[in-house]
Amino acid sequence: MAKRDYYEILGVARDADEKEIKRAYRKLAMKYHPDRNSDDVDAENKFKEASEAYEILTDAGKRGAYDQFGHAGVDGQAGGGGGFGGGGGSFSDIFGDVFGDIFGGGGRGRSTRGADLRYTLELDLEQAVKGTSVKIDVPGQVECNACDGSGAEEGSRPESCGTCNGMGQVRMQQGFFTVQQACPTCRGAGQIIKNPCKVCRGAGRVVEQKTLSVKVPPGVDTGDRIRLSGEGEMGVDGGPPGDLYVQIAVREHSIFTRDGRNLYCEVPISVGDAALGGELEVPTLDGRVKLKIPPETQTGKLFRLRNKGVAPVRGGAAGDLLCRVVVETPVRLTKHQKELLAEFQASLDGSKNTNHGPRKSSWFEGVKSFFDEMKF
Ligand SMILES: [Zn+2]
Ligand SMILES: [Zn+2]
Repeated sequence: MAKRDYYEILGVARDADEKEIKRAYRKLAMKYHPDRNSDDVDAENKFKEASEAYEILTDAGKRGAYDQFGHAGVDGQAGGGGGFGGGGGSFSDIFGDVFGDIFGGGGRGRSTRGADLRYTLELDLEQAVKGTSVKIDVPGQVECNACDGSGAEEGSRPESCGTCNGMGQVRMQQGFFTVQQACPTCRGAGQIIKNPCKVCRGAGRVVEQKTLSVKVPPGVDTGDRIRLSGEGEMGVDGGPPGDLYVQIAVREHSIFTRDGRNLYCEVPISVGDAALGGELEVPTLDGRVKLKIPPETQTGKLFRLRNKGVAPVRGGAAGDLLCRVVVETPVRLTKHQKELLAEFQASLDGSKNTNHGPRKSSWFEGVKSFFDEMKF
């Protein structure tokens, strides 16, 4: 098949200057670019044809030879016919020359730091207060072994993206503005994987369950975070990995509640112990301790056990354990016990001059003055 005239291909006059040739070629190249016409052989041929014409006509020496001798003068001298990915450096030279003001600029696809991950670690109060070491299983991304992270099937390699020249970014003219955006062909990667690895489907990474050991320092509380540097998601394009944040969540305890460095608990005591005094065994996180209850202890009274609370993770002295005693009403009394209690109550009612119920009497005082002040 006879070759078409280069001027005819580009649709320019024989005396067209370089600017006109460039403009004409750019128009054709945009129209027949393989990335816009995938699997269209006709478009590909037109693209190659236009590229060859452009290369010859913008080289003064080659153009002169062509003008004098026609195709015979330049045959075999055009390197652009190879098209994309053919290894022809000359083509990308043309590409850069013509599209330099539209495409390119900036470096190749930027490396990105991997995402941070969060893991919620539930702990018992004892573990949180005393510190512990736990193993956790987290899903992690690791480099695909089958393709060494390239994402390309064994024996093949990712190819530089033709649209962006491997830059990962393209600049698009929109009216007067030039906008830079991720290359639509390679999605910013700068390269195209024609035969993706079957194991990772071209991602270059696979998700694997990994076991990590987390050292929990003593004194942590719900909401505290432990950072495991570099245990987050893998970086992209050689970027550093993200971090893994282990978020502490302390389970509710059956006896203690925690408020900062202090611990609280309720201790039930009998009417007898409350009235006569006694010794109680109360739990702490370090085992049981004895608590002296003085006579005439009222319900709700707080007893403070110094330094039996929590030493905060950020340092400082341990807090206290605050035991709130709750006087219990006795239940399931026998007939005899009920009689004793009735007799006891009668003796209280009988002693007119002694106040046996401090709270009760002050309560009645309050009620009395409340009614006195209400003047009808
Ligand atoms: Zn690209
Ligand atoms: Zn792979």
